[in-house]
Amino acid sequence: MYDNFKEHLVKEIQSIKDAGLYKEERIIVSPQGAEITLESGQKVLNFCANNYLGLSNHPELIKAAKEGMDTHGYGMSSVRFICGTTDLHKKLERKIADFFGTEDTILYAAAFDANGGVFEPLLTEEDAIISDELNHASIIDGVRLCKAQRFRYKSADMEDLEKQLIAAKDARFKVIVSDGVFSMDGHVPDVKKMVELGNKYGAMVMIDESHSAGVVGETGRGVTELFDIRGQVEMITGTLGKSFGGAIGGFTTGKKEIIEMLRQRSRPYLFSNSLPPMVVNAGIRMFEMMDETNELQDKLHANTDYFIGKMKEAGFDIKPTQSAICAVMLYDAKLSQDMAARLLDEGIYVIGFYYPVVPKGKARIRVQLSAAHEKEHLDKAISAFNKVGKELGVIK
Ligand SMILES: *Cc1c(COP(=O)(O)O)cnc(C)c1O
Repeated sequence: MYDNFKEHLVKEIQSIKDAGLYKEERIIVSPQGAEITLESGQKVLNFCANNYLGLSNHPELIKAAKEGMDTHGYGMSSVRFICGTTDLHKKLERKIADFFGTEDTILYAAAFDANGGVFEPLLTEEDAIISDELNHASIIDGVRLCKAQRFRYKSADMEDLEKQLIAAKDARFKVIVSDGVFSMDGHVPDVKKMVELGNKYGAMVMIDESHSAGVVGETGRGVTELFDIRGQVEMITGTLGKSFGGAIGGFTTGKKEIIEMLRQRSRPYLFSNSLPPMVVNAGIRMFEMMDETNELQDKLHANTDYFIGKMKEAGFDIKPTQSAICAVMLYDAKLSQDMAARLLDEGIYVIGFYYPVVPKGKARIRVQLSAAHEKEHLDKAISAFNKVGKELGVIK
């Protein structure tokens, strides 16, 4: 039975390889951090993790994870509504709401599930979702699972958003949905304007803060802090898998009736296991740390400013960013791959992206800064970029 299907898969995989789109996985044999060890034994500086606050291997979180296991065990063996809710889960949900200035929170196994399970329980064919064209795959899938009418606007283009809101005017309920930070460029859409347009045309706003939480805003409270509109966005989704410790877990936080309805009807919540106590307890400790000090955010912002300043000085073409993502524009796909490979030789781990991950002719290297980076790490990366950039004729 399998022979024909196997042949089909082998052909498909070959076509992925022929197109140069086959993804290899680099094996790391150390914890995640500023410096990591590859399987080859090579130690490299890591500039491609979503470890923005440097918490992925933080001793406080490891300690809290162990304590969570000691007091509440290893796994929950249940969905939330049967016997998978502990006092820790409720406490973490409260902490997340306090962090974002929202009313209530619902946890998921991942942000992918939070986005996958947010639209279908809330909206029907009478309603409309107005979605940024560059939104994350999980938002796109969530929208597909829902019967609401779909409208797409040009990325972060508030004029086009307004046109789409006008086109959607007959819908009963409307939701504008956008990433808080677009991960390939690092820019933040004008969420203040989005809320204004929402008020004008009777639409709610949902922001996916996966790349912005912990990073954007003076204290990392995300885009609603940046635009001084805390509490004015109806729904926020996010991940515990990036800034917030990097382990696993997602959430939706926002208006309490919305969260209440999601607990009743959201399928990835109802039909998937509860987060393990170690992750939840580490999450609680993480949000306590965010309240105790702004050190990590301050360091991340200083690191980002320093790195980008030096890269611009060196003559690199850097996309305007309001996050810890720094896109070094190269425009040429092959160059992006050659440059990333040469940088790895120099001990700097970054990824080159090209079509279809980014638009045709917009190839780049994406650098992600972290509070885990020390000045000497940044300087080493900057000098490697200078050396390789000159070698490959990217800068003079
Ligand atoms: C990473 C990411 C997700 C997925 O997060 P997980 O918790 O890993 O599932 C969702 N949305 C956006 C915008 C992301 O960047």
